[in-house]
Amino acid sequence: MCDTLSVRWTIIPQIAPQPWTACSGCGGLRAFQSSGKIRLNANGRKLDAWLIYKCLTCEKTWNRPIFERQNVRDIDPLVFAALQSNDPQWIRTESFNLEALRSRSKRVDEFSEFDIEKERLSETGDWTKLKIELKAPFPISTRLDRLLASELKLSRKQLQTLHDRGTLRSNSDRADILRRRIKTGTQITIDLSAETNREQSWKPLATGSP
Ligand SMILES: [Zn+2]
Repeated sequence: MCDTLSVRWTIIPQIAPQPWTACSGCGGLRAFQSSGKIRLNANGRKLDAWLIYKCLTCEKTWNRPIFERQNVRDIDPLVFAALQSNDPQWIRTESFNLEALRSRSKRVDEFSEFDIEKERLSETGDWTKLKIELKAPFPISTRLDRLLASELKLSRKQLQTLHDRGTLRSNSDRADILRRRIKTGTQITIDLSAETNREQSWKPLATGSP
């Protein structure tokens, strides 16, 4: 691909999902936020592990089970070490475990605020196509069109027009890809051969640097 500016965007949500559950402190259903702390309880050879959440209204804690009454021998040693040391990376990943959250709570709020890291992968002098590879290490509820609109300074209508014309393509078969959540592996290619301000305008937005 000798006519392509190729970039990778990594999108990191700022806020972990918040489950709603009955609060024993202030009563009623409340949103809870991960405290980033693990609680372990050993009972003979059996171990319980919880991720501690706090009520956003009164700070009363709620322990979300990660596992209960597990035989110590059956626990992955890496997981065990992460739990014992309150490993922030491991806990952060667990705080985005939507499946586990939804199994404990009927309502789980997700947030669309994100940080983005832009890397330039390759570039030729006279590129006319922009290729964006997406990476989302944590689940994020932001839609693809919102991401592209905010990062490339386009309206969602402009994006839709580019998509309808085939100027903007993705590696997905889904016709509604623009309205779907951001996912790792999605690739967007935009043909900018008709644009004159590729270098001045598109490139800084795509690469995050002038
Ligand atoms: Zn409360």
